[in-house]
Amino acid sequence: MIKIVLKACAVTAGVIAVSQVVSFATRYAAGQPFTLFVFMMNCILPTITGFPTAFYVFWQNARLKRALDELSQLHAKLETKANYDQMTGFLNREAFFEQFKQARRRSDEGALVLIDADHFKKVNDTYGHPVGDEALKLIAGAIDATTRDLDVVGRIGGEEFCVFLPAVDRNEAARIAERIRIEVEKLAFHPNGGKRHPLTISIGIALSVDQRPTSQLMRRADRCLYEAKGRGRNTVVVEDVLEEPA
Ligand code: GH3
Ligand code: MG
Ligand code: MG
Repeated sequence: MIKIVLKACAVTAGVIAVSQVVSFATRYAAGQPFTLFVFMMNCILPTITGFPTAFYVFWQNARLKRALDELSQLHAKLETKANYDQMTGFLNREAFFEQFKQARRRSDEGALVLIDADHFKKVNDTYGHPVGDEALKLIAGAIDATTRDLDVVGRIGGEEFCVFLPAVDRNEAARIAERIRIEVEKLAFHPNGGKRHPLTISIGIALSVDQRPTSQLMRRADRCLYEAKGRGRNTVVVEDVLEEPA
C-alpha cells in the first residue's frame, strides 16, 4: 500500500511540475504574469484529480498482478497434480509415456527399464497398506538416487516403475539397473520400527535402437521382467537381441 501511495505521489509531482512549466511558458509567451494564484492552482488541480486517478490505476495494477500470480500458482499445482504421482513424486503413467515418447523422438537409442517390487502383496498382508506405502516410497527414493537428471522416471502402476535411459548402450543400461537393484536391496526397511524386512525388485530391460513402437518396447521389457521373476526375483534381465521384426 505504501508503495502504491509513493508511486501515486511521484506521478502527481510529475504532473504538477509539467503543469507549472507549461503554464509558465504559455503565460510568458502571452505576456501575462505568473502569479501565486496560478502557481497554487497548478498545484491543487493535479493533486485533486491526478493523485486519486494514479492511486486507483496503481492499486488495480497491483490487484491484477496478485490475481495473475495466484492463477499461475494454481496452474502449476494443477499441472503437478495431473502429471505426477503424489506418493513418489515421479511422473504418473500417462505423463511417463508422453515424456518417454518425446525423449525417443530426440534420440532413438536408449533403454527401457521396467521395475516391479517383489512379493509386495506379502508386505501389505503382513504389515498393512500404509506400511506398504512407506516401502514403496523407500524403493522410489532408491530409484531416484540412482538415476540421472536426463532419465525419464515414472510410477506406471501400483508397485511398478519405469525408467527410460536415453543414449545408453546395453552394458550401461545393465550397469545402471544393477545399481538400482542393489540400492533397493540395501534399503533399511523396518516396518513399524521393528525387525528389518528385506525389499527387492526385479528388472526387465528392452533396448531402443530405432523408432519401433513404444508398445513393442514395453512388451519386450515386460517379457524380460517376467523372466527375472522366473529366475527367482531380485534379478536384472536385459534382452539379448531384437528378435521381433520391425
Ligand atoms: P511379484 O513378486 O510376483 O511381483 O509379487 P507381488 O506380490 O509384488 O505381485 P502382485 O501383483 O500379486 O501384487 C502386487 C501388490 O502390490 C498388490 C497390491 O496390494 C500392492 N500395491 C499396489 N499398489 C500399491 C500401493 O499404492 N500401496 C501399497 N501399499 N500396495 C500397493
Ligand atoms: Mg506388479
Ligand atoms: Mg510385484
